[in-house]
Amino acid sequence: MHGTQAIKCVVMFSGGLDSTIAAHLMLSQGLDVTALHFVLPFESGLGREHGAVKRYAKALGVPLRIEEEGAEFLEMVKNPHFGYGKHANPCVDCRIYRLQKAAAVMESMGAKFIVTGEVMGQRPMSQRKDSLLAVEKRSGLSGLLLRPLCAKLLSPTIPEKEGWVDREKLMAIRGRSRREQLAYAREFGLEHGAPGGGCLLTEKETGARFTALRERDPAFTINDFKLLAYGRHFRIHDTARLIVGRNRLENETLMALVEPADIRFRMADVEGPFAFLRGTAGPDDIALSAAVVARYSKLRDASSARVSFTVDSHESVIEVAPANDQVCARYRV
Ligand code: SF4
Repeated sequence: MHGTQAIKCVVMFSGGLDSTIAAHLMLSQGLDVTALHFVLPFESGLGREHGAVKRYAKALGVPLRIEEEGAEFLEMVKNPHFGYGKHANPCVDCRIYRLQKAAAVMESMGAKFIVTGEVMGQRPMSQRKDSLLAVEKRSGLSGLLLRPLCAKLLSPTIPEKEGWVDREKLMAIRGRSRREQLAYAREFGLEHGAPGGGCLLTEKETGARFTALRERDPAFTINDFKLLAYGRHFRIHDTARLIVGRNRLENETLMALVEPADIRFRMADVEGPFAFLRGTAGPDDIALSAAVVARYSKLRDASSARVSFTVDSHESVIEVAPANDQVCARYRV
């Protein structure tokens, strides 16, 4: 099929069922595969291990390159050319953006083409035939984007025409059923992540938070964006948000994301959540925030609780009555 030097390709690799099969299909045709994994801003820059995706790449025996998304992701997510899906997911633009980055990786490592695990018609927005074609064109990868799971439903790509890949051995999967993929994974004993695991932007709660952030704080930063994924959020007033950790891990993540200008809260006498208030805040906002924080501590049913808050490294304590559920619900985003 090709010379002694294996042709290199880059597989967009989430570690899920489809991209694992895409990588396996390429390996079984003798290609030199590198898995490329993008990490959304929610998980990037936080020292995460990305252990699951490393395990799946290792099980396949392919090298893995991890790219953590940074501030440039914001430009795309703030103003997507193709708009949002059901919630805050700009899937078409997101695909284009990532493929452009993948194209740069491909060139830098001397690979010839990009491979994805996309299946036609599997997702409403980004995997319709017209979207697949728009994505390919706009990412500057015309002819160099191979989708082996549905390749036989699409026009032959350069890798197929050049004989780097045997089109006959590719698949023609369409639609949402994962039956064929699961059968393939079973047949070859593939290890993979849960099928169809979506990103947070496709979820209702994150979508609502994102919409509120875009409307009220249009100049939001990458740090604000990351916060969408963590804690309980309360809109204390138009320009101030309180974020309250839900468990120890979230508390730790919030501590990594807190900024010097934020007002930090902790229970003064008992264990409780870590929380902070971001935005312009006066004494009433601090008192309300302290009451909400106390609601999520062991003192939620007490008549009063002492909450410490820190402004510009200066710590004070305020005594409040813990907020009730109606008050919390009124401010909750
Ligand atoms: S589901 Fe999320 S990560 Fe995937 S394409 Fe859509 S926005 Fe991007």
